Amino acid sequence: MRKSILSSGVCVFVGLGSNLDNPVRQIRAAFSNLTQIRNTSLEKCSSLFSGPAMGGQKNQADYINAVAMLTTTLPPLDLLGALQENETLQGRIHGERWGPRIIDLDLLIYGARTIDEENLSVPHVGVAERAFVLVPLFELDPELVVPNLGKVSELVKLVDCRQLVRLESAIIGEHCK
Ligand code: AMP
Repeated sequence: MRKSILSSGVCVFVGLGSNLDNPVRQIRAAFSNLTQIRNTSLEKCSSLFSGPAMGGQKNQADYINAVAMLTTTLPPLDLLGALQENETLQGRIHGERWGPRIIDLDLLIYGARTIDEENLSVPHVGVAERAFVLVPLFELDPELVVPNLGKVSELVKLVDCRQLVRLESAIIGEHCK
């Protein structure tokens, strides 16, 4: 059963990506697994988007990406730990940085905080230049202001969205509103 919405939590956004072993199924499983994180409530899921892999390896399968909006009372590093546990649960093997991956979970935004620690940079380094992050963020909250970077409605105008394909509507299974 869906957990109740936390009244005192921080609003956070998590990026999801997969290009291995039925990526659409992996993203749906990842949304479901987000509902199991302690002291955290999954509030909204974006549509799923398909697009080419970024980085050095051009000869890998297209990615499926999405973004989840959550509220949490977990501190940022605890939430990162929970996301990494979920990656492991889904069979993620941490290998080459730009290689194919069964699931990738990035802590994109944690309220109004900016964090620059050895293991955690928030906003996530890719937010400003990645269409597959900005488009679903804009879909979830067109009024969103990304700490240090500005309005998502302005940022999304600056990225090339031509290769990004929206796969389905925002209603994905029973896990999201
Ligand atoms: P990746 O290969 O993209 O899954 O990167 C994982 C590494 O990035 C881990 O060592 C994390 O500690 C680090 N990292 C730094 N900032 C973040 C963030 N905002 N979200 C997720 N991982 C992060």
